[in-house]
Amino acid sequence: MGVAFASRVELLKASEIREILKITVRPEVISFAGGLPAPEVFPVEELKQAAIRVLDESGSQALQYSTTEGYEPLRRHISRRIEAKFAVKTAPENILITSGSQQALDFVGKLFLDAGDVVLCESPTYLAAISAFRTYLPKFIEVPTDDDGMVIEELAKILRSTGRVKLIYVIPDFQNPTGRTWSVERRRQFAELIQEFEIPVVEDNPYGELRFEGVIPPSIKSFDAKGLVIFVSTFSKIFCPGMRIGWIAAAENFFEKLVLIKQGADLHTSSISQQEIAKYLELFDIDAHVQKIIEVYRRRRDAMLGSIDALFPADVRHTYPQGGLFTWVELPAGYKSVELLKRCLERNVAFVPGDPFFPNNQIDNTLRLNFSNMPEERICEGIGRMAQVIKEYK
Ligand code: PMP
Repeated sequence: MGVAFASRVELLKASEIREILKITVRPEVISFAGGLPAPEVFPVEELKQAAIRVLDESGSQALQYSTTEGYEPLRRHISRRIEAKFAVKTAPENILITSGSQQALDFVGKLFLDAGDVVLCESPTYLAAISAFRTYLPKFIEVPTDDDGMVIEELAKILRSTGRVKLIYVIPDFQNPTGRTWSVERRRQFAELIQEFEIPVVEDNPYGELRFEGVIPPSIKSFDAKGLVIFVSTFSKIFCPGMRIGWIAAAENFFEKLVLIKQGADLHTSSISQQEIAKYLELFDIDAHVQKIIEVYRRRRDAMLGSIDALFPADVRHTYPQGGLFTWVELPAGYKSVELLKRCLERNVAFVPGDPFFPNNQIDNTLRLNFSNMPEERICEGIGRMAQVIKEYK
Protein backbone atom coordinates (compact mmCIF):
# COMPACT_ATOMS: atom_id res chain seq x y z
CA MET A 1 0.00 0.00 0.00
CA GLY A 2 2.73 2.47 0.95
CA VAL A 3 2.56 5.61 3.04
CA ALA A 4 -0.01 8.25 2.07
CA PHE A 5 0.30 11.79 3.40
CA ALA A 6 -2.64 14.16 3.91
CA SER A 7 -3.31 16.43 0.95
CA ARG A 8 -2.25 19.50 2.97
CA VAL A 9 1.19 17.96 3.36
CA GLU A 10 1.56 17.42 -0.38
CA LEU A 11 1.71 21.22 -0.67
CA LEU A 12 4.66 21.53 1.70
CA LYS A 13 7.91 21.75 -0.14
CA ALA A 14 11.35 23.08 0.71
CA SER A 15 11.73 26.35 -1.10
CA GLU A 16 14.50 26.83 -3.61
CA ILE A 17 15.25 30.25 -2.11
CA ARG A 18 15.62 28.82 1.40
CA GLU A 19 18.17 26.36 0.03
CA ILE A 20 20.11 29.15 -1.66
CA LEU A 21 20.02 31.24 1.52
CA LYS A 22 21.54 28.49 3.67
CA ILE A 23 25.00 29.87 3.03
CA THR A 24 24.09 33.18 4.70
CA VAL A 25 25.04 31.71 8.08
CA ARG A 26 28.67 32.14 7.04
CA PRO A 27 30.08 35.11 8.96
CA GLU A 28 31.55 36.75 5.85
CA VAL A 29 28.07 37.09 4.31
CA ILE A 30 26.35 40.44 4.80
CA SER A 31 22.78 39.25 5.14
CA PHE A 32 19.73 41.43 4.59
CA ALA A 33 17.74 38.22 4.22
CA GLY A 34 16.39 37.25 7.65
CA GLY A 35 13.88 39.05 9.81
CA LEU A 36 16.12 38.85 12.84
CA PRO A 37 16.10 41.46 15.61
CA ALA A 38 19.49 42.85 16.67
CA PRO A 39 20.89 40.46 19.32
CA GLU A 40 22.97 43.30 20.85
CA VAL A 41 19.77 44.77 22.30
CA PHE A 42 18.38 41.60 23.87
CA PRO A 43 17.94 42.29 27.62
CA VAL A 44 20.06 39.34 28.73
CA GLU A 45 21.09 40.63 32.18
CA GLU A 46 17.62 41.87 33.07
CA LEU A 47 16.02 38.61 31.99
CA LYS A 48 18.55 36.68 34.06
CA GLN A 49 17.46 38.63 37.14
CA ALA A 50 13.78 38.11 36.31
CA ALA A 51 14.32 34.37 35.82
CA ILE A 52 16.07 34.02 39.18
CA ARG A 53 13.25 35.89 40.90
CA VAL A 54 10.64 33.64 39.25
CA LEU A 55 12.44 30.47 40.29
CA ASP A 56 13.04 31.76 43.83
CA GLU A 57 9.53 33.08 44.40
CA SER A 58 7.28 30.67 42.51
CA GLY A 59 9.55 28.02 40.99
CA SER A 60 7.26 25.06 41.36
CA GLN A 61 4.32 26.96 39.89
CA ALA A 62 6.45 28.19 36.98
CA LEU A 63 7.47 24.63 36.18
CA GLN A 64 3.96 23.18 36.45
CA TYR A 65 1.22 22.85 33.79
CA SER A 66 -0.97 25.95 33.71
CA THR A 67 -4.16 27.31 32.13
CA THR A 68 -4.65 27.34 28.38
CA GLU A 69 -5.56 31.04 28.28
CA GLY A 70 -2.24 32.09 29.80
CA TYR A 71 -0.65 33.67 32.86
CA GLU A 72 -3.05 36.18 34.39
CA PRO A 73 -0.59 39.03 35.18
CA LEU A 74 0.81 38.83 31.65
CA ARG A 75 -2.68 38.98 30.09
CA ARG A 76 -3.43 42.03 32.23
CA HIS A 77 -0.25 43.76 31.07
CA ILE A 78 -0.99 43.00 27.41
CA SER A 79 -4.58 44.25 27.70
CA ARG A 80 -3.34 47.58 29.11
CA ARG A 81 -0.47 47.79 26.64
CA ILE A 82 -2.47 47.30 23.44
CA GLU A 83 -5.05 49.82 24.59
CA ALA A 84 -2.36 52.42 25.33
CA LYS A 85 -0.42 51.81 22.12
CA PHE A 86 -3.02 50.79 19.54
CA ALA A 87 -6.40 51.78 21.03
CA VAL A 88 -7.39 48.11 21.20
CA LYS A 89 -9.96 47.68 23.96
CA THR A 90 -9.92 44.03 24.96
CA ALA A 91 -10.32 42.82 28.53
CA PRO A 92 -7.59 40.53 29.96
CA GLU A 93 -10.16 37.68 29.93
CA ASN A 94 -10.16 37.88 26.12
CA ILE A 95 -6.40 37.77 25.65
CA LEU A 96 -5.02 34.35 24.74
CA ILE A 97 -1.28 33.82 25.12
CA THR A 98 0.16 31.88 22.18
CA SER A 99 3.53 30.32 21.39
CA GLY A 100 4.64 33.25 19.23
CA SER A 101 2.22 35.07 16.97
CA GLN A 102 3.00 32.50 14.29
CA GLN A 103 0.91 30.02 16.30
CA ALA A 104 -1.89 32.60 16.45
CA LEU A 105 -1.93 32.74 12.63
CA ASP A 106 -2.16 28.97 12.40
CA PHE A 107 -5.04 28.94 14.90
CA VAL A 108 -6.99 31.57 13.02
CA GLY A 109 -6.56 29.53 9.84
CA LYS A 110 -7.80 26.47 11.71
CA LEU A 111 -10.77 28.43 13.07
CA PHE A 112 -12.09 29.68 9.72
CA LEU A 113 -10.67 27.86 6.72
CA ASP A 114 -11.98 24.74 5.02
CA ALA A 115 -10.50 23.49 1.75
CA GLY A 116 -11.45 25.82 -1.10
CA ASP A 117 -12.44 28.77 1.13
CA VAL A 118 -11.36 32.23 0.06
CA VAL A 119 -8.85 34.24 2.08
CA LEU A 120 -7.90 37.78 1.07
CA CYS A 121 -4.51 39.30 1.79
CA GLU A 122 -2.34 42.22 0.82
CA SER A 123 -0.21 41.76 -2.27
CA PRO A 124 2.55 41.07 -1.26
CA THR A 125 2.12 39.63 2.26
CA TYR A 126 4.05 37.82 5.05
CA LEU A 127 5.31 34.59 3.61
CA ALA A 128 4.95 32.44 6.75
CA ALA A 129 1.29 33.53 7.07
CA ILE A 130 0.77 32.18 3.56
CA SER A 131 2.38 28.89 4.71
CA ALA A 132 0.27 28.77 7.89
CA PHE A 133 -3.01 29.33 6.02
CA ARG A 134 -2.03 27.14 3.08
CA THR A 135 -2.20 23.97 5.21
CA TYR A 136 -5.99 24.53 5.39
CA LEU A 137 -6.12 24.47 1.57
CA PRO A 138 -7.80 27.84 0.90
CA LYS A 139 -7.79 29.95 -2.27
CA PHE A 140 -5.86 33.19 -1.85
CA ILE A 141 -6.98 36.39 -3.50
CA GLU A 142 -4.36 39.15 -3.44
CA VAL A 143 -5.69 42.68 -2.97
CA PRO A 144 -3.57 45.42 -4.60
CA THR A 145 -1.76 47.70 -2.13
CA ASP A 146 -0.04 51.07 -2.47
CA ASP A 147 1.91 53.32 -0.10
CA ASP A 148 -1.22 53.93 2.03
CA GLY A 149 -2.15 50.25 2.42
CA MET A 150 -4.80 48.10 0.81
CA VAL A 151 -6.53 49.87 -2.08
CA ILE A 152 -10.09 50.04 -0.77
CA GLU A 153 -11.80 50.38 -4.19
CA GLU A 154 -10.06 47.17 -5.29
CA LEU A 155 -11.06 45.43 -2.07
CA ALA A 156 -14.68 46.54 -2.55
CA LYS A 157 -14.66 45.26 -6.13
CA ILE A 158 -13.35 41.87 -5.01
CA LEU A 159 -15.87 41.64 -2.15
CA ARG A 160 -18.77 42.50 -4.48
CA SER A 161 -17.72 40.08 -7.21
CA THR A 162 -16.47 37.09 -5.17
CA GLY A 163 -18.70 34.62 -3.36
CA ARG A 164 -18.16 34.26 0.32
CA VAL A 165 -14.82 35.48 1.70
CA LYS A 166 -14.01 33.58 4.90
CA LEU A 167 -11.07 35.61 6.20
CA ILE A 168 -8.94 38.68 5.49
CA TYR A 169 -5.33 38.88 6.66
CA VAL A 170 -3.61 42.27 6.98
CA ILE A 171 -0.45 43.77 8.51
CA PRO A 172 -1.22 47.50 8.67
CA ASP A 173 1.93 48.64 10.57
CA PHE A 174 5.38 48.41 8.92
CA GLN A 175 4.24 45.51 6.86
CA ASN A 176 6.36 42.46 6.23
CA PRO A 177 7.70 42.53 3.49
CA THR A 178 7.15 46.14 2.30
CA GLY A 179 7.62 48.21 5.48
CA ARG A 180 4.51 50.20 4.55
CA THR A 181 1.93 51.51 7.04
CA TRP A 182 -1.76 52.01 6.27
CA SER A 183 -3.12 55.55 6.56
CA VAL A 184 -5.79 56.16 9.21
CA GLU A 185 -8.34 56.87 6.49
CA ARG A 186 -7.72 53.48 4.86
CA ARG A 187 -8.10 51.77 8.25
CA ARG A 188 -11.44 53.45 8.77
CA GLN A 189 -12.70 52.65 5.27
CA PHE A 190 -11.49 49.06 5.57
CA ALA A 191 -13.28 48.62 8.91
CA GLU A 192 -16.52 50.00 7.38
CA LEU A 193 -16.37 47.55 4.50
CA ILE A 194 -15.68 44.48 6.56
CA GLN A 195 -18.52 45.38 8.87
CA GLU A 196 -20.85 45.73 5.90
CA PHE A 197 -19.81 42.27 4.66
CA GLU A 198 -19.27 40.80 8.15
CA ILE A 199 -15.93 39.17 7.39
CA PRO A 200 -13.47 38.11 10.11
CA VAL A 201 -10.11 39.86 9.87
CA VAL A 202 -6.70 39.04 11.32
CA GLU A 203 -4.83 42.24 12.11
CA ASP A 204 -1.23 41.11 12.60
CA ASN A 205 0.91 43.72 14.31
CA PRO A 206 4.37 42.60 15.45
CA TYR A 207 6.16 45.84 14.45
CA GLY A 208 3.82 48.74 15.35
CA GLU A 209 5.74 49.83 18.45
CA LEU A 210 9.00 50.07 16.52
CA ARG A 211 8.16 53.49 15.09
CA PHE A 212 11.14 55.76 14.39
CA GLU A 213 9.15 58.94 13.74
CA GLY A 214 5.54 60.14 13.82
CA VAL A 215 2.76 58.78 16.02
CA ILE A 216 1.32 55.26 16.17
CA PRO A 217 -2.00 55.23 14.28
CA PRO A 218 -5.06 53.60 15.84
CA SER A 219 -5.43 49.91 14.97
CA ILE A 220 -8.10 48.66 12.59
CA LYS A 221 -9.54 46.85 15.58
CA SER A 222 -10.20 50.22 17.21
CA PHE A 223 -12.75 50.96 14.41
CA ASP A 224 -14.39 47.55 14.69
CA ALA A 225 -17.78 47.83 16.37
CA LYS A 226 -18.87 44.27 15.52
CA GLY A 227 -15.98 42.33 17.07
CA LEU A 228 -14.82 40.97 13.71
CA VAL A 229 -11.14 41.87 14.05
CA ILE A 230 -8.76 39.43 15.72
CA PHE A 231 -5.72 41.40 16.85
CA VAL A 232 -2.48 39.42 16.93
CA SER A 233 0.89 40.54 18.28
CA THR A 234 4.06 39.35 19.98
CA PHE A 235 7.00 40.08 22.27
CA SER A 236 9.38 38.82 19.56
CA LYS A 237 10.34 42.21 18.16
CA ILE A 238 10.09 44.40 21.27
CA PHE A 239 11.74 41.92 23.63
CA CYS A 240 13.13 38.72 22.10
CA PRO A 241 11.82 36.03 19.75
CA GLY A 242 13.41 33.09 21.57
CA MET A 243 10.83 33.22 24.38
CA ARG A 244 8.07 32.47 21.83
CA ILE A 245 5.40 34.59 23.50
CA GLY A 246 2.65 36.08 21.35
CA TRP A 247 -1.03 36.77 21.86
CA ILE A 248 -4.50 37.06 20.40
CA ALA A 249 -7.08 39.67 21.41
CA ALA A 250 -10.51 38.58 20.20
CA ALA A 251 -14.22 38.95 20.87
CA GLU A 252 -15.84 36.28 23.03
CA ASN A 253 -17.32 34.08 20.26
CA PHE A 254 -13.93 33.77 18.52
CA PHE A 255 -11.98 33.63 21.77
CA GLU A 256 -13.81 30.58 23.16
CA LYS A 257 -13.10 28.55 20.05
CA LEU A 258 -9.48 29.66 19.89
CA VAL A 259 -8.95 28.45 23.46
CA LEU A 260 -10.26 25.01 22.45
CA ILE A 261 -7.94 24.98 19.45
CA LYS A 262 -4.99 25.92 21.67
CA GLN A 263 -5.88 23.14 24.11
CA GLY A 264 -5.75 20.60 21.30
CA ALA A 265 -2.49 21.99 19.95
CA ASP A 266 -0.21 22.33 22.97
CA LEU A 267 -2.34 22.73 26.17
CA HIS A 268 -0.71 26.09 26.94
CA THR A 269 2.28 28.29 26.20
CA SER A 270 5.41 27.69 28.35
CA SER A 271 4.53 28.64 31.96
CA ILE A 272 8.08 29.60 32.82
CA SER A 273 8.55 31.85 29.78
CA GLN A 274 5.27 33.64 30.54
CA GLN A 275 6.25 34.18 34.15
CA GLU A 276 9.72 35.38 33.26
CA ILE A 277 8.37 37.99 30.88
CA ALA A 278 5.75 39.06 33.43
CA LYS A 279 8.49 39.43 36.06
CA TYR A 280 10.66 41.40 33.64
CA LEU A 281 7.71 43.74 32.99
CA GLU A 282 7.23 44.19 36.73
CA LEU A 283 10.91 44.90 37.46
CA PHE A 284 12.03 46.86 34.39
CA ASP A 285 10.80 49.57 32.03
CA ILE A 286 10.04 47.87 28.73
CA ASP A 287 9.17 51.21 27.10
CA ALA A 288 12.71 52.42 27.74
CA HIS A 289 13.95 49.16 26.25
CA VAL A 290 11.78 49.60 23.13
CA GLN A 291 13.17 53.13 22.79
CA LYS A 292 16.70 51.68 22.73
CA ILE A 293 15.73 49.28 19.96
CA ILE A 294 14.12 52.13 18.02
CA GLU A 295 17.29 54.20 18.17
CA VAL A 296 19.46 51.36 16.89
CA TYR A 297 17.05 50.46 14.07
CA ARG A 298 16.49 54.07 13.03
CA ARG A 299 20.23 54.50 12.41
CA ARG A 300 20.31 51.25 10.47
CA ARG A 301 17.28 52.24 8.38
CA ASP A 302 18.91 55.58 7.62
CA ALA A 303 22.17 53.88 6.63
CA MET A 304 20.33 51.50 4.32
CA LEU A 305 18.04 54.01 2.61
CA GLY A 306 20.83 56.60 2.37
CA SER A 307 23.13 54.08 0.66
CA ILE A 308 20.38 52.87 -1.66
CA ASP A 309 19.55 56.43 -2.71
CA ALA A 310 23.21 57.22 -3.29
CA LEU A 311 24.29 54.02 -5.02
CA PHE A 312 21.42 52.11 -6.70
CA PRO A 313 20.50 53.13 -10.28
CA ALA A 314 17.77 55.81 -10.33
CA ASP A 315 15.14 53.49 -11.87
CA VAL A 316 15.27 51.12 -8.86
CA ARG A 317 12.41 52.04 -6.49
CA HIS A 318 12.07 51.34 -2.78
CA THR A 319 9.74 52.08 0.14
CA TYR A 320 10.52 54.57 2.95
CA PRO A 321 9.50 52.70 6.13
CA GLN A 322 9.00 54.85 9.23
CA GLY A 323 9.67 51.86 11.44
CA GLY A 324 9.87 48.09 11.58
CA LEU A 325 12.58 45.91 10.05
CA PHE A 326 12.23 45.96 6.27
CA THR A 327 12.32 47.91 3.06
CA TRP A 328 11.02 46.63 -0.27
CA VAL A 329 12.80 47.15 -3.56
CA GLU A 330 11.35 47.08 -7.06
CA LEU A 331 13.82 46.59 -9.87
CA PRO A 332 13.07 47.68 -13.43
CA ALA A 333 11.28 45.07 -15.61
CA GLY A 334 13.70 42.48 -16.96
CA TYR A 335 15.58 41.93 -13.70
CA LYS A 336 15.03 38.58 -11.98
CA SER A 337 15.66 38.84 -8.28
CA VAL A 338 16.47 35.12 -7.82
CA GLU A 339 19.23 35.46 -10.43
CA LEU A 340 20.36 38.70 -8.79
CA LEU A 341 20.56 36.85 -5.45
CA LYS A 342 22.82 34.18 -6.93
CA ARG A 343 25.15 36.86 -8.25
CA CYS A 344 25.06 38.82 -4.98
CA LEU A 345 25.95 35.69 -3.01
CA GLU A 346 29.14 35.44 -5.07
CA ARG A 347 30.01 38.80 -3.46
CA ASN A 348 28.82 37.61 -0.03
CA VAL A 349 25.66 39.68 0.24
CA ALA A 350 22.14 38.26 0.61
CA PHE A 351 18.46 39.31 0.52
CA VAL A 352 15.10 37.57 0.02
CA PRO A 353 13.66 37.67 -3.51
CA GLY A 354 10.06 38.95 -3.56
CA ASP A 355 8.32 36.01 -5.28
CA PRO A 356 7.35 33.94 -2.19
CA PHE A 357 5.52 36.94 -0.69
CA PHE A 358 2.89 36.68 -3.44
CA PRO A 359 0.65 33.64 -2.90
CA ASN A 360 -0.49 33.50 -6.54
CA ASN A 361 1.29 36.04 -8.68
CA GLN A 362 4.67 35.45 -10.24
CA ILE A 363 6.40 38.76 -9.70
CA ASP A 364 10.10 38.31 -10.11
CA ASN A 365 11.63 41.80 -10.04
CA THR A 366 11.11 42.62 -6.34
CA LEU A 367 13.07 41.90 -3.18
CA ARG A 368 12.97 42.43 0.59
CA LEU A 369 15.83 43.94 2.57
CA ASN A 370 16.14 43.68 6.35
CA PHE A 371 18.03 46.46 8.13
CA SER A 372 17.73 45.43 11.81
CA ASN A 373 20.39 42.75 12.00
CA MET A 374 23.57 44.38 10.63
CA PRO A 375 25.62 47.32 11.95
CA GLU A 376 25.70 50.48 9.78
CA GLU A 377 29.15 49.92 8.23
CA ARG A 378 28.14 46.43 7.07
CA ILE A 379 24.86 47.79 5.71
CA CYS A 380 26.67 50.44 3.65
CA GLU A 381 29.22 47.91 2.43
CA GLY A 382 26.48 45.39 1.51
CA ILE A 383 24.34 47.93 -0.34
CA GLY A 384 27.48 49.05 -2.20
CA ARG A 385 28.14 45.48 -3.35
CA MET A 386 24.49 45.02 -4.37
CA ALA A 387 24.63 48.28 -6.35
CA GLN A 388 27.62 46.95 -8.31
CA VAL A 389 25.84 43.69 -9.11
CA ILE A 390 22.67 45.54 -10.19
CA LYS A 391 24.68 47.79 -12.48
CA GLU A 392 26.50 44.82 -14.05
CA TYR A 393 23.26 42.81 -14.48
CA LYS A 394 21.94 42.22 -18.05
N1 PMP B 1 3.68 38.09 11.68
C1 PMP B 1 4.59 38.79 10.96
C2 PMP B 1 4.11 39.82 10.01
C3 PMP B 1 5.96 38.53 11.14
O1 PMP B 1 6.83 39.22 10.41
C4 PMP B 1 6.36 37.54 12.07
C5 PMP B 1 7.82 37.21 12.33
N2 PMP B 1 8.73 37.48 11.40
C6 PMP B 1 5.38 36.85 12.77
C7 PMP B 1 4.05 37.15 12.55
C8 PMP B 1 5.71 35.73 13.74
O2 PMP B 1 6.43 36.16 14.81
P1 PMP B 1 6.51 35.36 16.22
O3 PMP B 1 5.94 34.00 16.00
O4 PMP B 1 7.94 35.36 16.57
O5 PMP B 1 5.67 36.15 17.16
